[in-house]
Amino acid sequence: MARRTVYADAHCHLDQLEDAPKEIAAAKKLGVKRFLSNSEDLASMKRNLALAREFPGVVLPGLGIHPAELVGQDDKTVAAELDFIKAHVESASFLGEIGLDFLHAATPVQQDRQKKILIEQFEVAAAADLPVVIHSRRAQRPAMNAAFRYVETYGRPVLLHWFTQSVKLLLEVNRRPGIYISAGPAVLFNAGARKVVAHAILDRLLVETDAPVPFDGEPARPSWIPRVVETIASIFRISPEDLAKQLNKNLDRFLGLAQK
Ligand SMILES: [Zn+2]
Repeated sequence: MARRTVYADAHCHLDQLEDAPKEIAAAKKLGVKRFLSNSEDLASMKRNLALAREFPGVVLPGLGIHPAELVGQDDKTVAAELDFIKAHVESASFLGEIGLDFLHAATPVQQDRQKKILIEQFEVAAAADLPVVIHSRRAQRPAMNAAFRYVETYGRPVLLHWFTQSVKLLLEVNRRPGIYISAGPAVLFNAGARKVVAHAILDRLLVETDAPVPFDGEPARPSWIPRVVETIASIFRISPEDLAKQLNKNLDRFLGLAQK
């Protein structure tokens, strides 16, 4: 039954949870066995690597500088973060959460700096043969185009996380092999998100919670994943078990585990 179904949270921030081990245990009881934990700055990278050591094969850590964090950081801080990523990239499962956030980068100078640092992180990820997880806010098209370039240039996949705002953009993504999208708790609360997800290609879809980002006033938790999967399964009129199996295959392929 549902208990035997195995899930993964393809995008969360375990380092930001008040009690990550407790949340991991609660989610594991419901079958959530893997967690892609994203970093935003130096402190969160260190915390995620520590969690990955504590929960090997369960917490899959991403290293990266979040574009919104970048705006408030001086060049010296960013250089130290890039050095840290390069020094620890062997321990990372992917680079993330990286991308473009023009809500926080309002000026052309700030936006160009985000683009430059994104490309530098692409180069680190590519050298380590890693996939990347991309965040975009008020920059969906430029972030999407950057994702296309990463896949074309380096042949490694990209996850456009929380990419459920536009059917039009999703249809463009669907034409590009190597680009995955993830859907999250928005599908529980928002009919618009459900409508977009209905256009996803099932073998390039992942699910996430973005925990602890709040939805409907409550911080998301990785234990919400089975509900997210059930909701998406009902959109596609398939069983949650079959969808979960497909999602696990997709995640293995995204992480480069499928052929090993
Ligand atoms: Zn996130």
